[in-house]
Amino acid sequence: MGTAVRENSEYRQRVSRRPGRLEPVPDARSEPSARARQVTLAAAPRVLLLNASYEALTALPARRAVVMLIGGKADVVHDHPTEVVVRSVETSVKVPSVIRLREYVRIPYHAQIPMTRAALMHRDSHRCGYCNARATTIDHVIPRSRGGAHGWENCVASCAPCNHRKADKLLSELGWELRAPLVAPRGRTWRLVSQLREIGPHWEDYLYLDAA
Ligand SMILES: [Zn+2]
Repeated sequence: MGTAVRENSEYRQRVSRRPGRLEPVPDARSEPSARARQVTLAAAPRVLLLNASYEALTALPARRAVVMLIGGKADVVHDHPTEVVVRSVETSVKVPSVIRLREYVRIPYHAQIPMTRAALMHRDSHRCGYCNARATTIDHVIPRSRGGAHGWENCVASCAPCNHRKADKLLSELGWELRAPLVAPRGRTWRLVSQLREIGPHWEDYLYLDAA
């Protein structure tokens, strides 16, 4: 795969940072590089966990990723292109972007995929289910006020004008039709996408997103 896998002892010693919304820890004692940004472990960005087969499994909180690395359960595949340092009680550690399990684990396929805004927008290609304009909202086809469920089969990406015009009406009352039937996506990648709030550095190499 051409990816670097590093020793955990080395991992413990490395320090780094990442710019952006993360807040530095003002009283940090260690002295990483001048570019390093220190954050609390809870505020550190999530880490993509790969199976031993390099299949993407989930996005871990940084704390869990660090525990797995120190415990020898996983190795670093990609560092952050910019550096993030977190402080634990005794030491500074560098947060990677992608890690990989040393041992393959079997994951069940059958679990239902939770619906999130990001996953729904991806299913509908960010297009309004009524007029095909760019969607910025989510509409309940049968309004919640009239008993509609909050789920894959009753939610659709919608442009703001359509959402506003539709309000709490039924499609039959408006004479509208959906451009396509609403189905729940299946498959592990979908499950993962539905969990992700953002895509970290290098993650796309492991997220093979098929069209809905
Ligand atoms: Zn529309």
